[in-house]
Amino acid sequence: MIQTSLSKKFGRYGGQFIPETLAPAVAELEAAYLTLRDDAVFQTELNGLLSTYVGRPTALSKASRLTTSLGGAQIYLKREDLAHSGAHKINNALGQAMVARFMGKQRIIAETGAGQHGVATATVCALLGLECVVYMGSVDMARQQPNVLRMRLLGAEVRAVDSGTRTLKDAVNEAIRDWVTNVDDTYYLLGSALGPHPYPTMVRDFQAVIGQEARRQMLETIGRLPDACIACVGGGSNAIGLFDAFKNDLKVELIGVEAGGLGIPSGRHAARFGDPQRGRLGVLHGTYTYVLQNEDGQIADTHSISAGLDYAAVGPEHSYLREIGRATYTSATDEEAMAAFLRLAREEGILPALESAHAVAEAIRQAPLRGQDEVLLVNLSGRGDKDLDTVTQVLAEQGRH
Ligand SMILES: *Cc1c(COP(=O)(O)O)cnc(C)c1O
Repeated sequence: MIQTSLSKKFGRYGGQFIPETLAPAVAELEAAYLTLRDDAVFQTELNGLLSTYVGRPTALSKASRLTTSLGGAQIYLKREDLAHSGAHKINNALGQAMVARFMGKQRIIAETGAGQHGVATATVCALLGLECVVYMGSVDMARQQPNVLRMRLLGAEVRAVDSGTRTLKDAVNEAIRDWVTNVDDTYYLLGSALGPHPYPTMVRDFQAVIGQEARRQMLETIGRLPDACIACVGGGSNAIGLFDAFKNDLKVELIGVEAGGLGIPSGRHAARFGDPQRGRLGVLHGTYTYVLQNEDGQIADTHSISAGLDYAAVGPEHSYLREIGRATYTSATDEEAMAAFLRLAREEGILPALESAHAVAEAIRQAPLRGQDEVLLVNLSGRGDKDLDTVTQVLAEQGRH
């Protein structure tokens, strides 16, 4: 049956908290997406590019040495680090760029923190011949020079944002401002399962390929489903992309891992669910969800060793999955993520993104507590090449390098 509308909310979370000037643009996007969601030609072209350009399906690897050294549950890795441009972000960027082309929008804008979403967007814009402008906080530009260079080489214009803390949330504000001004010819390509409806649903759908593949691969490899799926949660797109295919398999635990930064008591983290004092319900960038706030209800400053997890709000569907008890959320500190990064490098020959290392850290914690017949499926959302400077710096501070 063809759907005529999509739910704007996940339980009480989500919705469309937007300026009136954007209402027509968001409605136009929802209509276009509703059409394309069930359009065989669109889906065939998307699946074709996911295969021939992105390199899907990505591998499912057993982490054999890590499993043996932990002595408990078996660990399998879904290898989004092998996708073109190095992370899961391209699944969403490609899907949305094709939506933009269908809508006749020639100009794409995006926000980026670490630069990964910016690189994915610049990549697909080059592929499809679309103009690309990426907003990035000037602090982030300084921290992530290689990604700024990548975006420029791919033909994108990178615009420095000097307001606020000059980081991701300020870049989002600037992108929204641009969208309001240029809404006729411009498409806002949002990078995670966040923002006003229909973005959280659309981004989840484009990332759901991760879980669909992984579910099939697990059945092919071990003849059954895993006992738990584990993924890091920034905005929540790689996690929701993995979880979606397992949502109705009630025996499969779904575990999201937030950035614990320097520890919850320090206040320097991005654990929206993990810090009951500062993680409160509110609206950020168009959606109603858990948001880290200070006593006055202002958006709190966040911290994580991994820029991709360093955001004050979490995707609304995660708030819902947590509320109904379908998913649980934990956190891993900077230190635990670093240890997991080094261990995966030495024991499996994989340099994970520091974001993904948070999910690996949770698997390292859980595996020894479980029987050897149990199976953990970990989403390795991206590769660690972008993090070599950070890792080198931390090792130098610890005097280990
Ligand atoms: C951006 C990013 C994340 C965090 O974003 P989600 O929307 O939560 O997936 C995680 N891992 C990598 C490698 C990233 O680049």
